[in-house]
Amino acid sequence: MAETLELARQLIARPSITPDDQGCQDLLEAELKAAGFHCRTLREQMYPTFNLLALYSGEEGANLVGDPEQIKNQHGPYDPSGLVVPGPITLLLGHTDVVAPGEVSAWSSDPFVPTERDGLLYGRGAADMKGSDAAMTIALKRFVTAHPQFKGTVGLLVTSNEEGDAVGAIPYVAEWLKKERVYPNYCVVGEPSCTSELGDTIKIGRRGSMTAHITIHGKQGHVAYPDKIDNAAHKAGRLIAALCEHQFNDATADFPETSFNVTNVNAGIGAENVAPGSAEIMCNWRFNPNQTPLKLQHLLERQLEQLRIYATVRYVINGLPFISSRDGILVSALRQAIVDKTGRAADAIDLNTAGGTSDGRFIAPLGAEVVEFGPCNGTIHQVNECVKVQDLDTLTDIYEQVLAAIHLA
Ligand SMILES: [Zn+2]
Repeated sequence: MAETLELARQLIARPSITPDDQGCQDLLEAELKAAGFHCRTLREQMYPTFNLLALYSGEEGANLVGDPEQIKNQHGPYDPSGLVVPGPITLLLGHTDVVAPGEVSAWSSDPFVPTERDGLLYGRGAADMKGSDAAMTIALKRFVTAHPQFKGTVGLLVTSNEEGDAVGAIPYVAEWLKKERVYPNYCVVGEPSCTSELGDTIKIGRRGSMTAHITIHGKQGHVAYPDKIDNAAHKAGRLIAALCEHQFNDATADFPETSFNVTNVNAGIGAENVAPGSAEIMCNWRFNPNQTPLKLQHLLERQLEQLRIYATVRYVINGLPFISSRDGILVSALRQAIVDKTGRAADAIDLNTAGGTSDGRFIAPLGAEVVEFGPCNGTIHQVNECVKVQDLDTLTDIYEQVLAAIHLA
């Protein structure tokens, strides 16, 4: 049963600080290729991001290779390569990149030397999420080896740019899947979802996220002549106050109330006697399905109008909210697997949508039922990140049982 641990250790030993993959995906590819998976690396030209898509179909007539020689019409519509990927399609989704280790001397052991102490495996990425990458890979390998014939297609999708800006990463792969007309039905994101024990939490959806970059225009001038200036910092203050006061009161059974936060404020030239002529505000909304980016944009525009503030605004929609049904096929299969493999009672598994966004938000719009389930997240992005060694095996068993429940039924 040490297979997952061994693979996790090999991954941690590669310092794949986002988006530099450092050969992590080669390790996963080698494992899956040996089990008969068709593997391809998807890369957007010019970007250092790597994405590995490994597929295996248990059905005859599948064509997971397509026609790679086919000449793509670069200027006309995309020409699909002729893949035949029988459904249902289940993708296990992960990332091989990690955040920088920070102060290395603060770690008890080298962040890129996997180290076991007291039943815990230490190293950057142990929990977020090389432990899950290893568990997903071994689960897929075991499943297709035990059942070469099964209904539909299973696969692994990993990117080397989840912790960074996602350029050339899962959004790019999602576009490619659309063009190839490959629509996953189920997607398990192996992000660390649990809090204190493996199995305590499944994320069944995520809030949306939108950022606004606001530039407020005023008139710069000497503070001694207030009638000749239009202080942009004062306007920024009024706008921030108004936006913070707004009550959304829009919580749902699955989602908390929409929240707003100012993340950056900049104004002034550093002088004591000059009132700023412009001010920059960066702010972010985490919103539930009762809101849309357009509704939030209208809200901001209305405030600007009421306060008679002249501003230019650039919006970045970081992700739309999504939710998977509490009794959907994937959620049910995952719950049962957790009960069977951890002994936890079904009603002690919390299904929620809390926390930050994940790459699941790019797969959900393809029509997939998406859940996030992985190890405990108490140490992620921190010094001395670690995962319970025992949990790596249990996680592998859970993923494997989910694949069986969907594809052998
Ligand atoms: Zn992660």
